[in-house]
Amino acid sequence: MTAMQPAKLASEPGREAWRSFNLYEPTPEHALLAGTLRAFVEREVEPQAADADRKEHFNRELFRRAGELGLLGLTLPEAYGGSGLDAVAAVQLSEILSTSDPGFCLAVLAHSILFAHNVALNGDEAQRARFVPKSASGEWVGGLCMTEPEVGTDVLAMRTSARRAGDGYRITGRKTFITNGGVGDGELGDAFIVYAATAPREISSFLVEKGMPGFSLGQKWHDKLGMRASFSAELVFDDVPVPAANLMGKRGDGTLHMMRNLEIERLTLAAMSLGIAQRCIEVMLAYAGDRKAFGRPIRDFGQIQRHIAEAFAEYRAARALVYDVARRLDLAGSGQRIDADATKLFASQAAKRAADSAIQVLGGYGYMGEYVVSRLWRDAKLIEIGGGTLEAHHKNLVKELARNPHAIRD
Ligand SMILES: Cc1cc2nc3c(=O)[nH]c(=O)nc-3n(C[C@H](O)[C@H](O)[C@H](O)COP(=O)(O)OP(=O)(O)OC[C@H]3O[C@@H](n4cnc5c(N)ncnc54)[C@H](O)[C@@H]3O)c2cc1C
Repeated sequence: MTAMQPAKLASEPGREAWRSFNLYEPTPEHALLAGTLRAFVEREVEPQAADADRKEHFNRELFRRAGELGLLGLTLPEAYGGSGLDAVAAVQLSEILSTSDPGFCLAVLAHSILFAHNVALNGDEAQRARFVPKSASGEWVGGLCMTEPEVGTDVLAMRTSARRAGDGYRITGRKTFITNGGVGDGELGDAFIVYAATAPREISSFLVEKGMPGFSLGQKWHDKLGMRASFSAELVFDDVPVPAANLMGKRGDGTLHMMRNLEIERLTLAAMSLGIAQRCIEVMLAYAGDRKAFGRPIRDFGQIQRHIAEAFAEYRAARALVYDVARRLDLAGSGQRIDADATKLFASQAAKRAADSAIQVLGGYGYMGEYVVSRLWRDAKLIEIGGGTLEAHHKNLVKELARNPHAIRD
């Protein structure tokens, strides 16, 4: 290739059209969605965010409002009240909500991605018709039950079991840390996907509903480090009769459902980190311009510049990675596990560093509860644990890369 060739190609009409591609708002629909989300956040999410965190309150009214605006059903099929949009839309929702209230965003994600999207993807027609429309509207609050008091990462070792009984199954066991497990004082969430063992190391997926005998709310987890605007609960299954119609897919399909949904789950969690990082950078940049020390704005000091510049560079890198993976993610398929793990591995740590830098730049004010950065710092930590720990991402990534080294260049 000679040095002249690129200039020659550039002059041909249409050749450079790809340069106008906007990774973050690729279509007019995405641009419209971003506008709706920003307005919703400014007018309705931000005013309640600090208070919901302080009171450890899941804001059911705000959740319904999100449903009214169509924000709970972005990736759900249009035939069932959703918008039929793609992974980029799901990432936008996560990113923009998390600039203000990551705790509320976690509740939205657990409902719309972990539960409703999973049912839309893996359920049969009757299950979709029963669960998806009420999820898209926000009438029901849903969640996903995988983690147990004694089993998290090592999911195939789960103890909650489902035994055959007549035409259906009976589920016994306990799940914990379940987002949306409750929606208010002593009140269960409405519907859940419950992973349970139907044989040793055989996992099946069941749809369990509030009101089924033996299904109850255990404890609400109080005093969480962060994500306090979401309700984390222990759920108890005491010989719960579940009709065969509530088995999702075939017996033993649970592991497949888990894997299929984990990609979008991890990607949208990574996008939450983007929102956290973005807000932290905005806050520390503004503060560093206003705050004076030794007769100058602290923004003039190299050490402060380093905090802001490093956080910005990492945010930009994480954002490009997350949106690029979203662009390529086939919501109906699977096989991008490496990328999904990589996005959360990188973005979660970048957000935590950005929040830490923001506190440092704000000094004592950064440490005080009334400043958003301390809340974001607490919230940021969850993304290193929930939906797969950093160590789980390390394990998955190396296993997949060893199996398919070509993926490094893909
Ligand atoms: C706020 C919050 C919300 C959540 N929401 C939900 C939800 O809605 N639904 C749900 O099912 N779960 C939920 N979880 C649970 C979450 O997904 C688990 O906490 C997570 O998967 C880790 O499981 P664990 O806590 O049991 O830790 P463990 O799996 O016991 O891990 C403990 C430590 O050991 C490490 N470890 C484990 N195995 C390995 C290994 N092979 N190699 C190296 N290190 C290893 C882990 O990385 C970690 O550091 C939530 C958790 C929180 C905190």
